[in-house]
Amino acid sequence: MEIFKVAIVGAGPAGYFAAQALQNSQNEERIFAIDMIERLPTPWGLVRSGVAPDHPKIKTVSKVFEKIAADPNFRLFANVEIGSDITIKNLQEKYDAVIIATGSALGKTLGIPGEDLPGSISAATFVPWYNAHPDFADLNIPLDCQNAVVIGAGNVAMDVARMLALEPSELDPTDTADHAIAALKLSSIRNVYISARRGPEHAAFTSPELRELPKLEHTNVVINRDDIEAALARVGSEIEKDVKSNLDAMMLIADSERSQHERTMHFLFQHTPKEILGTDRVEGVVYSTPQGDVTIKCGLVITAIGYQAAPIDGIPYENGKVVNIDGRVAENLYVVGWAKRGPSGVIGTNKSDAAAVVELVISDLKGPKLAGDISELLTNQSVIDQLAWQKINEAEIAAGEPLGKPRRKAVSRAEFMHLGGL
Ligand code: NAP
Repeated sequence: MEIFKVAIVGAGPAGYFAAQALQNSQNEERIFAIDMIERLPTPWGLVRSGVAPDHPKIKTVSKVFEKIAADPNFRLFANVEIGSDITIKNLQEKYDAVIIATGSALGKTLGIPGEDLPGSISAATFVPWYNAHPDFADLNIPLDCQNAVVIGAGNVAMDVARMLALEPSELDPTDTADHAIAALKLSSIRNVYISARRGPEHAAFTSPELRELPKLEHTNVVINRDDIEAALARVGSEIEKDVKSNLDAMMLIADSERSQHERTMHFLFQHTPKEILGTDRVEGVVYSTPQGDVTIKCGLVITAIGYQAAPIDGIPYENGKVVNIDGRVAENLYVVGWAKRGPSGVIGTNKSDAAAVVELVISDLKGPKLAGDISELLTNQSVIDQLAWQKINEAEIAAGEPLGKPRRKAVSRAEFMHLGGL
């Protein structure tokens, strides 16, 4: 029996699914001792910091992560930063394989004038803010305007638009950050424009997300029927199944009777952003459209046009991804998830992706290294291990219970240390 040591950097879905694939490929000849290293005080990656709080079902995958973490050969080292606390090279020396699973944390930018004005932010900032990510908690998101624009036609844009256009008390029974609920309750935003640069037939929304919009109890949703008819005419009879399902869902919204709520989500198609207007802060967005230039006045612009990986010292990056061939980066260094293939697919997509990379890891294995492990390298005294995380998890769930929430998230590092008994 040989014991191979694997370090996984990043405790999001891709990291856990890599751990699961390693655990599933253990046999009488080999087992894996897995150390998962995470920069934040909490694991679960975008299941905690990305998934919209009004989509609790998607978060139930965390039960799978906890099962993976319950294996006696699995250890969590959260609150440990690669670069300051430890380097990738250190890990490569000590572990048989190092798997990077750090996702794509940075928002892509439009590269148009005015993008840097106050009031123009990325979904990569707004989403972690409402999800209680410690690095974003102190932001002051300008919600003191009537109109907001969300640029992009994917599911992240949809999440962002919904969060801005919901009646904020609907967030009370969710795990939205307390600071975000308080700010959204004071929000003056009543119109949220979600803008796609192409027609409805090219939108990256998925139809379940579109189909839940008519169920919003306090928000009008406006789609122009002409836009959908024109899209149907363009695609003709050879229409792909997913596109048809999306257009059907959009037509249903376009055809539904207008409700008279205070808040409205408007869909704009074939609107390509050209410039963000303003002097001291955002005042509007100029779009080029088939009918000529159009300006939408607004005080907040959120771009949700995709993500790229944040660089880590010692890892080659190109085009927002870690440079790799099928997940291989260098000797005993691998990558999985969005850092490997870019920001696409749902959480479950990472399962097959990680399993394929783990097959390569196994085929590359040599005799096990006897060079020690991360615990000999760490000088950081505030490591949050699985036991400390479990205490935090239980405390958050208990704090949420009397409030009717699935959990009340802690935010500051000091709070995490306290709850974790450290
Ligand atoms: P996405 O699905 O790739 O959508 C990105 C959108 O940005 C596209 O509509 C794209 O339009 C647009 N865009 C890109 N560059 C642009 C530019 N320069 N100007 C204007 N628009 C631009 O990405 P995402 O929304 O970030 O989502 C990432 C992944 O997570 C997706 O697979 C998504 O389904 C998934 N996700 C799923 C859920 C869920 O299941 N509920 C929730 C959130 C995210 P073009 O097509 O014209 O390039």
